[in-house]
Amino acid sequence: MKKIAVVGTGYVGLVTGVGLSHIGHEVTCLDVDHEKIDLLQKGRSPIYEVSLEPMIQENQKQKRLSFTSKYEDIQESEIILIAVGTPQHPDGSANLTYIYEAAEAIAQTINQEVTVVVKSTVPVGTCQNVKNYIQAKTPFPIQMVSNPEFLREGNALKDLFEGDRIVIGSDDQKAIQTVMEMYAPFDIPMMTTDLASAEMIKYASNAFLATKISFINEISSICEKVGANVEAVAKGMGMDRRIGSSFLQAGIGYGGSCFPKDTKALVQMAGNVEHQFDLLESVIHVNNKQQNKIVDQMKERCGSLVGKRITILGLAFKPGTDDLREAASLVILDRLLREGAFITAYDPVAMPRAKEKFPAVTFASNVKEALAGADLAAIVTEWEEFKELPLHFYDELMNEAILFDGRNCYSLDEVREQNMEYYSVGRPAIE
Ligand code: NAD
Repeated sequence: MKKIAVVGTGYVGLVTGVGLSHIGHEVTCLDVDHEKIDLLQKGRSPIYEVSLEPMIQENQKQKRLSFTSKYEDIQESEIILIAVGTPQHPDGSANLTYIYEAAEAIAQTINQEVTVVVKSTVPVGTCQNVKNYIQAKTPFPIQMVSNPEFLREGNALKDLFEGDRIVIGSDDQKAIQTVMEMYAPFDIPMMTTDLASAEMIKYASNAFLATKISFINEISSICEKVGANVEAVAKGMGMDRRIGSSFLQAGIGYGGSCFPKDTKALVQMAGNVEHQFDLLESVIHVNNKQQNKIVDQMKERCGSLVGKRITILGLAFKPGTDDLREAASLVILDRLLREGAFITAYDPVAMPRAKEKFPAVTFASNVKEALAGADLAAIVTEWEEFKELPLHFYDELMNEAILFDGRNCYSLDEVREQNMEYYSVGRPAIE
């Protein structure tokens, strides 16, 4: 078993650190955010992720998992994983400030040979540059590995333990071996390659998935106009194994901390080498259009939204997480407030984060309270709680049951049995 440090305890770093301790490694998770570390030291998770908190507590008890904000506490680690954020600059390119701050601190801290593993999503060439940067500042040998992360928020632990593949990129065979040994207990297929290809695999994978989503969303818009049902279309397409059925759910677009930023960063990266990535630029454009769809539909239905009481169900960028980064809800709330509507919102876990951003929005404590007295309602995140809500509640609780379902949560047949107006994505409206 290995002595491992994880730098950055966000969604990726925390889940990875906890998982590695769970398979028996001795893991120290480090973050510069003292509040997060205080919480974690008490066994509490700063993020919502199914089963994460009990697993933190169990591994703390077993003395395999500890949390710190001091770099000197990770001095003896043989492997240091970097999982700090790589947000975007205003022009869409990746902001590597946190990566270099971590690299600087690592260079000042280490007192032995170490394998540095970059899990953060970074533009091609970054790992080599970071290696050179650290190596120039320390006499101890550094081996550098690119090990991009593919976990999905809301499903993160499952993805860690049952992922499709682990990509390990390095120009150093010894480092590849070390990282393969670290991951061996997960029993997940490992793919080894060079640093640059590993970095590119991450961007290419996210860009491809985003392309599938924007593709089906474009098809859904045409379906609406020609009287086809996008669900049937996606099902028929997905039965072809060359296409596959995943990521073919039409809706109001992708969000989150990865797809929007990684697609933009790849367009930038291509531009840097004088390649105009036309396809990906269109994917991004389609997604922006899609995130505005519900408000467009509402305006088409009602004309002015001034003074309308509108209920927003779901704020997180997808179910299972409290993450609001680049969520469609942010675009929708912002636009509806500017249109002069009164908004009540409800989300099972993301409301504390949303309250900070939208003081003008009323937050309800449950879905029924949220719907009471509303003129219009919209489903923005497909939480199970909404999917399971008996449809008669819309009619009973709202002024008029007019629902805009941005995630196609209900079958048209069940809606037809109710007294409600229903607008979804890529399917005929029920008026
Ligand atoms: P996050 O913002 O949730 O967490 C990053 C953490 O790093 C924060 O807690 C921050 O305080 C800490 N940090 C910043 N600078 C530091 C430093 N110098 N030393 C120690 N800690 C520092 O980010 P995240 O969502 O976990 O993403 C991390 C990386 O993984 C990003 O590059 C992201 O693109 C990538 N990624 C994210 C996901 C995801 O689903 N969130 C999936 C795959 C890949």
